[in-house]
Amino acid sequence: MSRIYNFSAGPAMLPLEVLERAQSEMVEYRATGMSVMEMSHRGKDYMAIIAKAEADLREIMAIPANYKVLFLQGGASSQFSMIPMNLLRGKTKADYINTGMWSKKAIAEAKRYCTVNVPFSSEDTNFSRVPRQDELKLDADAAYCHMTSNNTIFGTEFHYTPDTGSVPLVADMSSNILSKPIDVSKYGLIYAGAQKNIGPSGLTIVIVREDLVGQTLDFTPAMFKYDIHVKNDSMYNTPPTYGIYIAGLVFEWLKEKGGIAAMEQVNIRKAAKLYGCIDGSGFYRCPTEKESRSRMNVPFTLANAELDEKFLSEAKGAGLVTLKGHRSVGGMRASIYNAMPEAGIDALVSFMEDFAKRNG
Ligand SMILES: *Cc1c(COP(=O)(O)O)cnc(C)c1O
Repeated sequence: MSRIYNFSAGPAMLPLEVLERAQSEMVEYRATGMSVMEMSHRGKDYMAIIAKAEADLREIMAIPANYKVLFLQGGASSQFSMIPMNLLRGKTKADYINTGMWSKKAIAEAKRYCTVNVPFSSEDTNFSRVPRQDELKLDADAAYCHMTSNNTIFGTEFHYTPDTGSVPLVADMSSNILSKPIDVSKYGLIYAGAQKNIGPSGLTIVIVREDLVGQTLDFTPAMFKYDIHVKNDSMYNTPPTYGIYIAGLVFEWLKEKGGIAAMEQVNIRKAAKLYGCIDGSGFYRCPTEKESRSRMNVPFTLANAELDEKFLSEAKGAGLVTLKGHRSVGGMRASIYNAMPEAGIDALVSFMEDFAKRNG
């Protein structure tokens, strides 16, 4: 086997144990005589798979009973429209904290349905940080306040949960869900595309407080109504069955690893090693402010951008791939979600140290 360390921002690495388990159950799932992909989503074998996935997610995130868990399609990007369609509930304004490109996309979509107030934006410093609580100019009449908890492209992350008072907090957690414990009760709605820290693309998870669903804008299509999906236990139409199965295996893997509190400790260590290498090098530079740095996506630049191509090709030769940064930041970006083993960070750090020595 020649699996390499893949630092892609998404779709991203999955735990090897999960892939091997899926492989062993691929052609015939248990004694059913068929693969999971071929099963009716309403049959008892599949119903057991989705029920277990939901129960395990509820357990590892400690999701309170008054929250619904939905397994949807359409990616996090569909949530950019579903959120205003469902959560305005008679109001005409919403707050959107602007901390990066995904925030901007959410804002652009929300503007089609309501007035958007921006309580904070770091666009003037190319999104180098997230706000402190005391910088948020919140609107008490907002229907909800939307945040991007981890900014996948710019490499910043909220290390606290903003206090929005009685205004429901809505969080796009696509790139840091399950990376650390959070208090779900502080949020009105949490959503995440699966392809970063949960499973394969094509699955979107929504966790929503039940009193917030059911008051949609008149024109909302059935597929965009949370209450329809709630009423039908994510089976209004065919859900992404195989993606949910793999996500379920990832949840089991997390439980075996000691849950997300244990995972957070590993993530803290992994990030500290990589940022330590960057800060101590005199050769690499990280464009984000220290207090805002993401544990999941680590952007960095080289002392000389002309060395970028050499860095990428030598890294690839060392089995370290997909390190090219997003065009809006430049340089490199290492995405180090839960499934990136600590050994992958060690390999990257020693490659980076060696490269700096030879080219600095
Ligand atoms: C990747 C990403 C998205 C987009 O997800 P899709 O599932 O491709 O729509 C949205 N928000 C954040 C924070 C992301 O990282």
